[in-house]
Amino acid sequence: MADRSVMADPNRLPPSLWVATARPAPATEPLSGDKTADVVVIGGGISGLSAALRAAEHGASVCVLDAGEAGWGAAGRNGGQVIAGLKWDPDELERRLGAAAVEFANGAADEVFSLIDRYGIECAAEQRGWLQPAHSRRALRTSEARVEQWARRGAPVELVSDETARSMVGSDGYVGGMLDRRGGTLQPLSYARGLAEAVQGQDGTVHTRSPVVSLERDGTRWRARTPSGSVTADRVILAANAYVSGLYPRLAQSFISFTSFIVATERLPDDVAASVIPCRLGISDTRRFLTYSRVFDNRLLVGGRGTYGDPSNDTDFAHIESAMTRLFPQVKGIPIAYRWSGRIAVMPDFMPRIHEPEPGLAVVHGFSGRGVAQATALGRRVGEWMATGNRDCLPIPPTAVHRIPFHRLQKLYVTAGMLLYRTLDALG
Ligand SMILES: Cc1cc2nc3c(=O)[nH]c(=O)nc-3n(C[C@H](O)[C@H](O)[C@H](O)COP(=O)(O)OP(=O)(O)OC[C@H]3O[C@@H](n4cnc5c(N)ncnc54)[C@H](O)[C@@H]3O)c2cc1C
Repeated sequence: MADRSVMADPNRLPPSLWVATARPAPATEPLSGDKTADVVVIGGGISGLSAALRAAEHGASVCVLDAGEAGWGAAGRNGGQVIAGLKWDPDELERRLGAAAVEFANGAADEVFSLIDRYGIECAAEQRGWLQPAHSRRALRTSEARVEQWARRGAPVELVSDETARSMVGSDGYVGGMLDRRGGTLQPLSYARGLAEAVQGQDGTVHTRSPVVSLERDGTRWRARTPSGSVTADRVILAANAYVSGLYPRLAQSFISFTSFIVATERLPDDVAASVIPCRLGISDTRRFLTYSRVFDNRLLVGGRGTYGDPSNDTDFAHIESAMTRLFPQVKGIPIAYRWSGRIAVMPDFMPRIHEPEPGLAVVHGFSGRGVAQATALGRRVGEWMATGNRDCLPIPPTAVHRIPFHRLQKLYVTAGMLLYRTLDALG
């Protein structure tokens, strides 16, 4: 269980709109020397920090170790859209996993905003809704069923007409859609930094620039080693998501690692700004190869799946930039100010996972590109479980780690999957 690859990574967050506008990071130090804790958390993203915070709220001594800084991974790079629900719609979710899973999915976005309120996290959070416009009539029928199922359970969701969707988005590209008042937006890097500060406020420790290079058993306890120290703990929460690499066997082979790309324009002139997403909500459309967009700091942000692997130059973002001007021709000619990307862990069924591969070791991952709410809420449950031993708080059962067959062909899977998705999207 030794992992050398994390040591080679410079672990500096790449430039982005979020880096340029985030609140300062809380003061942290790399781990130095040998320490003990009740719970050691590997990964200072949304899931790790929210698990650590919940464990600390239950009185556990917690120590978070991140290879970079708090929010270095997808947590500090995402679109900042807070989206309720899970991949499976509520009827299917209830049939497969029971009512607790539906209740969890229904409340996940609320958990984000109430956590932000409780800890006074300054991260431009707004719970004014999330829009999922439909790219085709067929997709709209799926949205209708989704709205009917959630509305039956009392969720504040509604179907919007073609005209309403187009005027909310400021684009002709959609035919109605779902407006979900549970959702909202935030500044993701500020959120991650705020969570880290909240952990510190509960007497937890956050060590940055502290890549865990090995995780091993020490009698009934666990020891996580970094290049400059170690933490021995009764329990471990491994929350490294798509960046897990080789730290624990089979995990990195249990999901497909996609790269998601975002671009943000220079500040828009007033007349253009007024015509782009006038509703100012976060928007993710119904395409399988989805496009997500929002306005922040008077700039238009548009993101979507990218090529396999990390981008090597600006031209790797060309497909996102042409999607942007296709949807919003009014921004043509406005320069792009920021281009950045991050990695997401996509599960074969798009559902997140909790694993307990050995006693005292919990893994939480696989948010499939929708982790702001899910990783917050699921992280909290895993933190509570590891602090108290009470498994009943888990909304989905821990499962075995399943390696995806022929995983080393993942580059081929991603390329073929993207081609298939593009074709299906084009067919509506
Ligand atoms: C470009 C982009 C846009 C997205 N947009 C949205 C969106 O709008 N809404 C939404 O809901 N979701 C979105 N997502 C998905 C969401 O960001 C993720 O699901 C979420 O951040 C997962 O959080 P996490 O804490 O599990 O993982 P991460 O945030 O990736 O954190 C993992 C952490 O583990 C650390 N780590 C890894 N290995 C080690 C090690 N050996 N030792 C120590 N630390 C280690 C890394 O440094 C990293 O900080 C987007 C993702 C990307 C990349």
